[in-house]
Amino acid sequence: MKRLVVLGAGESGVGTALLGKQKGYEVFVSDKGKIKNKYKDVLIHNEIEWEEQQHTESKILNAYVVMKSPGIPDKVALVQKLVSNNISVISEIEFAANYTKANIIGITGSNGKTTTTMLTHHILKHGELNVEMGGNIGDSFAKQVAKQAHDHYVLEISSFQLDGIKHFKPHIAIITNITPDHLDRYDYKFENYIASKFRIAMNQTKDDYLIYDADDEVIVNHLNNHNIQSTLLPFSLTKKIEQGAYYKNKELIITIDNNQIIMPTTKLALEGKHNVKNAMAASTVAHLLKIRKNTIRESLENFQGAEHRLENVLRINKVQYINDSKATNVNATYFALESMDSPTVWIVGGEDKGNNYKELFPFVNEKVKAIICLGVDNSKLFESFGNMVDIIVETQFMSEAVKIAYKIAEAGDNVLLSPACASFDLFEDYEDRGRQFKESVRKL
Ligand code: ADP
Repeated sequence: MKRLVVLGAGESGVGTALLGKQKGYEVFVSDKGKIKNKYKDVLIHNEIEWEEQQHTESKILNAYVVMKSPGIPDKVALVQKLVSNNISVISEIEFAANYTKANIIGITGSNGKTTTTMLTHHILKHGELNVEMGGNIGDSFAKQVAKQAHDHYVLEISSFQLDGIKHFKPHIAIITNITPDHLDRYDYKFENYIASKFRIAMNQTKDDYLIYDADDEVIVNHLNNHNIQSTLLPFSLTKKIEQGAYYKNKELIITIDNNQIIMPTTKLALEGKHNVKNAMAASTVAHLLKIRKNTIRESLENFQGAEHRLENVLRINKVQYINDSKATNVNATYFALESMDSPTVWIVGGEDKGNNYKELFPFVNEKVKAIICLGVDNSKLFESFGNMVDIIVETQFMSEAVKIAYKIAEAGDNVLLSPACASFDLFEDYEDRGRQFKESVRKL
């Protein structure tokens, strides 16, 4: 029996363990930290051997293959040891893809992965395809494959997952955009992070498709300087695209092999230019899979957006409160501010990941009437924006931030939580931050 060792017992680790067991491996799961009870229960129930708060090397170095969870960096001594012992170390998507013949749609990028994944799944489901969604969203891909066979999988895939692939090949890949993020895992070299994202296309042939943002210079530069086999289907907000999608006069025009569809965008459910991009990417997939134009249009119009992404919370005294807690980097906040169409009280801050706020200056000058800094250390925000707005204050409590915003905002204004920073200085995670925002708004 071949031995599969799983490092890290989170969603992807436990999913892999289940699939491995089902496929006849001898499975061992090892986690350096504590394993959540819900995952322990699954392991026990399925009679899978596991350990926590340690890595017992004698039970790991005898593996045939090791699945490393995306959270564990390659630099860790144990991983180095496995590699030098010539033991194959792969990620969950690499493992799981061996056990399905389904059509895989893989979605990566710095921002917009979740939204584009959900939207693509939504359209395909409406088009009555037998489709499931997974990866970094909801159930892991491995668990999906273990559970039930589907014809199509729409997968949200992080760069960490891509670092652990060897043969994984989505038939349709999307790179939504590439802006600096997670550089700590890439030796602080942006080019390493870019290369990691492009691994999504590395096994593709001309029979496969790569959908990408043609307005993103980082992506276009990389494509110009590397030999990529995939059939390219770019999308653009600004220029005409012969093969792919573009936006003109409030319409989406998608062309694949002389087959063109044109759809109005005036009733798109999601607001903001970035969501037009996400809609173009998702619709291109749908068009490739021959979903009818009316189905695509209807789906774009009735899609319920994901929580914490430019989520409209409440309107109080004609002030709109918007939760964009998932904006954990400057680029996401850029699109949030861009989509504001009235004066905005902006709640920003948290754990700074080496942010450069310059690109936000024009929007802040034009639209932001007050800034409420919500972080442990707000000095950089004060430095960057102190001269730009009349009111800039700081607090370390969400309830207080919301109360201050309530006092400042007048009829017709927006109150926007779009932090541009990670949440870990004051909150458990971005979801906790978003929930606290919504609760505080509801208590006003
Ligand atoms: P991811 O899964 O890549 O983190 P999400 O869909 O969760 O992406 O969105 C993260 C943040 O980025 C949200 O604040 C959202 O409003 C914003 N966003 C969504 N799509 C895009 C895009 N195409 N470009 C830039 N920002 C985006």
